Amino acid sequence: MSSLAQHKYTPNFHHQIFKSHPPHYPAWVHCSTTTTTSKPRTKKLVIEPRLVAPPSTVVTTTNHRPLVNDPSLKSTWSHRAWVVAGCTTLLVSLGETIKGAVDLNIWAEPILAGWAGYILADLGSGVYHWAIDNYGDGSTPIVGAQIEAFQGHHKWPWTITRRQFANNLHALARAVTFTVLPIEIIFHDPIVQGFVGVCSGCIMFSQQFHAWSHGTKSRLPPLVAALQEAGVLVSRSQHAAHHRPPYNNNYCIVSGVWNEFLDKHKVFEALEMMLYFQTGVRPRSWSEPASEWVEEIENSSEIQAQ
Ligand SMILES: [Zn+2]
Ligand SMILES: [Zn+2]
Repeated sequence: MSSLAQHKYTPNFHHQIFKSHPPHYPAWVHCSTTTTTSKPRTKKLVIEPRLVAPPSTVVTTTNHRPLVNDPSLKSTWSHRAWVVAGCTTLLVSLGETIKGAVDLNIWAEPILAGWAGYILADLGSGVYHWAIDNYGDGSTPIVGAQIEAFQGHHKWPWTITRRQFANNLHALARAVTFTVLPIEIIFHDPIVQGFVGVCSGCIMFSQQFHAWSHGTKSRLPPLVAALQEAGVLVSRSQHAAHHRPPYNNNYCIVSGVWNEFLDKHKVFEALEMMLYFQTGVRPRSWSEPASEWVEEIENSSEIQAQ
């Protein structure tokens, strides 16, 4: 199996501003099998230029360098309403768990189910974060805004510490409201409710845990810093590695307990290869150091100096 030289391209080219540099036109890469009579069967990676953007295409971006008091970092009343709805959903789930545990006089099972929910929420946060970091763009249905927000976060990580609470959590709070409410209506088992309530709660608050992982120890609440150091919440050092080259590890942002296993066994790299050979789509992390992954250092130091 031999590979021809691979051209780099910018996958989300719809959202880049091209100024002095010529645009990179995208090329689909696919694997084809060539059989000859003189040689054994060989497989070659062939690059075919397709879907080439016409030179006159006007390319714009919705990402922009945020200001310290950027209005996009502030919470709106709709953000707050979704967070209230999400928290109410979680409280109902917790209430159902306690009521069921009292009625059936079982405690160990709901507690174990909650613990499993906490552990699996970390894995879920990693899989979701990996997916939106590497695939799709702002035009992707449902999660397009989240994809753009995470791309912006890689470039300006400091913004998450300035983003107001409801602004940071509202998208996940809305997802939790829509997915957990039906489960609450259908299932009244305390074990199911214990698992769902803790798992969805950790997922909803994962963006807050993520924001804390970007904080400095002296500015964090002492309890949060202690929980980070105990490994209950994702640590600052572990998440800092996600924002350094090669930009393809430490995706989990609840407790980070899965990061070492997933990175050591190259689980996401294996998934990326599988997707690539099935669909021909390259993950963004293969194109590093693409500009959208690299932090604008001078901007963050400006902020820290304040
Ligand atoms: Zn990321
Ligand atoms: Zn981050």
